[in-house]
Amino acid sequence: MGILAGKRALIVGVATDRSIAWGIAQAMHAQGAELAFTYGAERLKDRVTPLAESLGSKIVLPLDVTVDAQIDAVFAALKEGWGQLDILIHAVAFAPADALDGDFYAVTTRENFAVAHDVSSYSLTALSRAAAPLMEGRAGAVLTLSYLGAVRSVPAYNVMGLAKASLEANVRFLAADLGARGIRVNGISAGPIRTLAAAGIPGFRKMLAHVAHTAPLKRNVTTEDVGKAAAFLCSDMASGVTGEILYVDGGFSTVGMSFPEPAAG
Ligand code: NAD
Repeated sequence: MGILAGKRALIVGVATDRSIAWGIAQAMHAQGAELAFTYGAERLKDRVTPLAESLGSKIVLPLDVTVDAQIDAVFAALKEGWGQLDILIHAVAFAPADALDGDFYAVTTRENFAVAHDVSSYSLTALSRAAAPLMEGRAGAVLTLSYLGAVRSVPAYNVMGLAKASLEANVRFLAADLGARGIRVNGISAGPIRTLAAAGIPGFRKMLAHVAHTAPLKRNVTTEDVGKAAAFLCSDMASGVTGEILYVDGGFSTVGMSFPEPAAG
């Protein structure tokens, strides 16, 4: 029996079969969870629906996280269909392309700052508020996806780094509020993975090469690596863990120095 047997999870953030959310969905399905999915835009419906069906999921709903009425509709549908919820996966982020092209201080406008924070951080607050009543009396778990740019400067990540810093603070404040109701809130800070969202970051290929060279595991992580850690964090195996950001990055964030070529002598 899997570590998520009997649990019901809402997966927000699948766009393609390369999405981190899809890796998480597969790992959770393998561990016995029943899944529901959302898609962020109408054009993604035909891509997400067959993926969801391949894991036996019957609930696939539209959800643009900037639209409160859609958030309400998703949780109303879950209440109707399932009655309760154990796990919420939040794997959503966005910043306008021009905010990721050029020096941070030069290209960050008031508007793209607001959009990045709304989609990438506020949405966790809004979804957690809507999910909490369905998790009442259960060992609920909320999990989001962050990146090293929350705590270190990274070329081109720009305003998304600020939004991830906000997201990580969001995890800690939500954990403090929801802990008394038995709901745990955590984040995974994943190493770079080639996905649709990552394709918008200039120099992403160089990032992958640098991490593979520098990280203790000498490789990049996969959506499968992230999925397995997510299954653990949302299971009762992690019953004492909340407010935490777990790095799934091959150890990259722990390295203080590395040399471009093997050091001579
Ligand atoms: P992805 O493109 O597969 O997923 C991003 C998702 O965000 C898509 O499903 C998209 O539809 C959704 N989205 C964007 N705006 C939305 C909106 N307004 N409403 C609803 N959904 C919206 O890319 P991914 O890399 O799997 O990204 C998932 C999460 O992982 C993001 O938070 C991302 O920042 C984070 N992350 C990615 C990497 C990486 O290198 N790929 C590393 C660390 C963290």
